[in-house]
Formats: sequence, structure tokens, C-alpha cells
Amino acid sequence: MSHIFHRGGGGAPPLAVSAKGLWVVDEAGHSFLDASGGAAVSCIGHGEPRVVEAIRAQAARLDYVHSGAFTNAPAEALADRICAATPLGMEKVYLVGSGSEAVETAVKMARGYHVARGEGDRHHVIARRQSYHGNTLGALARGGSEARRQPYLPMMTETPRAAPCFAFHEKKTGESEEDYAIRAADTLEAEILRLGAETVSAFLAETVVGATAGAVPPSPGYFARIREICDRHGVLLILDEVMCGTWRTGSFLACEDEGVRPDIVTLAKGLGGGYQPIGAAVCTREVHEAFADGRRGFVHGHTYMAHPIACAAALAVQDVIAADGMAENVGRAGEKLRQALQARFGNTAEVGDVRGRGLLQAIELLEDPSRKASFDPALNLAGRIGDACQRHGLLVYPGRGTVDGWRGDHVLLAPPYNITEADVAEIVDRLGRAVDEALADVP
Ligand code: PLP
Repeated sequence: MSHIFHRGGGGAPPLAVSAKGLWVVDEAGHSFLDASGGAAVSCIGHGEPRVVEAIRAQAARLDYVHSGAFTNAPAEALADRICAATPLGMEKVYLVGSGSEAVETAVKMARGYHVARGEGDRHHVIARRQSYHGNTLGALARGGSEARRQPYLPMMTETPRAAPCFAFHEKKTGESEEDYAIRAADTLEAEILRLGAETVSAFLAETVVGATAGAVPPSPGYFARIREICDRHGVLLILDEVMCGTWRTGSFLACEDEGVRPDIVTLAKGLGGGYQPIGAAVCTREVHEAFADGRRGFVHGHTYMAHPIACAAALAVQDVIAADGMAENVGRAGEKLRQALQARFGNTAEVGDVRGRGLLQAIELLEDPSRKASFDPALNLAGRIGDACQRHGLLVYPGRGTVDGWRGDHVLLAPPYNITEADVAEIVDRLGRAVDEALADVP
């Protein structure tokens, strides 16, 4: 009997015993092609010797020091690396242990910034419906994933909401995508005005939406309009790039492709590639200056922040990405993956959309795509597809959207950045068979 409290509540899932490259092997000897890097984490594949050696060497040299007493070399080097990786002029990095911690840090940093500047009434963080920012209570309160929030609703503060930017579901017939983008962004301004701008601290959004909607890039012009609105009202822009950042969509920060600089951006998954738990809230000089006079500091912290071994691992992951030219492969491989998905599912009536950016791609399934009508949620189609994939030796990240009712079931793919054309073909073949099987099972 397992003494682990497994997240499913029941028995233990299969026991994983080893992983190398794209493949995960379980105790029974079954091999699984990891097409989603877990939850979009394993960005350079598994078992990379250069990262393993960096972890070993750092553990031998300096395992842990408290960040209140000391800084450490891998943390300093990683912060330098993060700032140098983006042309947007982000200058300070607060290193933490996960994506949720990065989001908690970002929203508290925004609040601290306003308090330090004498605008202590600013406390609201506006977020979007259909979004995910983590499972700790502060991050969960800001997220819009109703399934994850439901049991905890009485424990969370109310979060004011703007509309998501999701043209596939929300653009009206005849409306241009540019007009739609402005309409979606302007819901933020309406909410700021409703609350009173002097009470609003920040707007929080994923640049490319991951888990709750399935790889949804913003419509062109959306974030430029959002930036204008935030600036007009003194509201900080926090972009959550825990999933879509660190080269996942082709650029170090996905917002580089929008031509928009956030005030704070969060990172996690692809930063450490799964070799160690690590996250970061990265801010501009202007934000940091509010804390920098040495008197105030930032009333926040975690025991394992700037952990030397986690930072050494993340630095090694970023070194491998650079040395092997992996970032350059993301755009190319992402295009191949999308084309292969389009070719395989072009004739599957239930696949309503194939979308994504870089190596964050998804298919969305609907009972009737022409009406955007979802399958009955009780069928749990996404879950069935995930199970069928596993039977076909494929790991994917299934999910289902909700905004004022059900949206489609989706399957998210986030393979490593060094994926080959042969790997793409294998993933799409196995996914195709699993989707056919799951659809055939739908009553
Ligand atoms: N933000 C986004 C966009 C995420 O996708 C996730 C995790 O899936 C998180 C935050 C939370 O990260 P973690 O699970 O590391 O706490």
C-alpha cells in the first residue's frame, strides 16, 4: 500500500522508474512518448547529462544558504541570464520555487510598488475569465478555472474580471480580428473604471493561454491595447508566462512577439525544465526602484528561494538550450507539428480548431464545431482521450474550457524544443489513434 496521498485520491498511478530524451518508462516496462513534458515542463527532454552533472557539482560545492543572509553564484548567474535573454529590458529577478509562488510574488510585488509610492488604496488585481495562475490560494483566486476553484470559493477573495481574448469562441461573425482584440481589451478599461482606477493595482494575464483553454495566442493588437490601458490608469501589467515563457513559443518571453513590455513577468516550467523546482518573478527597473531605498525592502520570501542547486540546474538547462540551438528549432518544429495536426485531423468532424504558437499546440474538440457546441462535460472527453493516449504509449495534457458554460475539450501538446520531424510524426500518429478510439467510445 502506498502511503503517499495521491492527487487522484485513490490508488497510486503507475510507478515511473526512468526517463531519457522523449521517453518515460514505468515499472512494468511500458515506454511513454512524452509529448507534453508533463505539464509543459520538460523543455529539453529527460536525463540530459550536462544538467545532471551541474546539479551534482553544485550539491557538492554549496547545497543551501538562506537568501536573507547570502546570495549565491548560480542564483546571480541565472538572474543575469534571464535578463540578457530578453530584449525587453527586464532588470530584476526574484527567484522562487514554483509557478504559483512566482504569481504570488508578482501580485504582492505590484501591491508593494504602489504602497511604496504612496498609493496604498491600489489593491485590486484584475484577471481574466478562463485563465490559470496556480493552485495556492492567492493564485487560485486570480485564476478563472472554475473546476479548480469550486471547492475553495468561500475561502478566496473575489477577483474582478476582464474578458479573455479568444477569437475562436468570442469573435462575432463579420467582426475583424483587430476589432475583436480591441473589444476584448476594452473590457479591462471598463472594469478599472467600475472599480475606480485609484484602487486597481495590476492586471494579470497569460500571454498565450495554456491549461484552461489549450494554447490560445492573443489576437493581434490585444496586448498593445492592454498596455495602453494599464499606462493610462497607473495599473501594472503582470504577464504570467509560467507555461508560455522561456522559449516555449519561440521567443524567450512570448510577449516579445506582441511588442509589449510587462512590468512584471512570471516564469517557471521551462526555466528549470523539470530538473529542479524553480520559478521567477522578473520586473523592470522602475518596479524595483520602489523597493530599493534599503528601508522598505519587499515584505515577502520563501525558505527555498534562490536555491543554489535549483538555480544551477536552471542555468544548465538554459546553457543546453543555447549550446544546441534549441530555441531556433522551436518555431520550425512548431510549424511542422501544427501542419501534421492539421493534416491528421482535417477530416475529423469533431476537431474544431488546431492552434498554438511555437511548441505549445492544441486541438479542440466540439460536438458541433459549426455552432461551437461542446460535448456533454459528463462525458469527460478530454480525460478519455488522455487515457487512450496513455494506452497508446503517449503522454499529453488534456483539459476543458469554461466561461459562462462549457467550452471545448482540448489536448495540449508541449514537446521538448529539440523534437525532430520523426518524433512529430510519431506523436501525431499515436494521438490520432487515441482520438479516434475515444470518439468511437462516445455514446
Ligand atoms: N501559471 C500558469 C500559466 C501555469 O500554467 C501554471 C501551472 O500550470 C502555474 C501558474 C502554476 O505553476 P505551479 O504548478 O508550478 O505552481
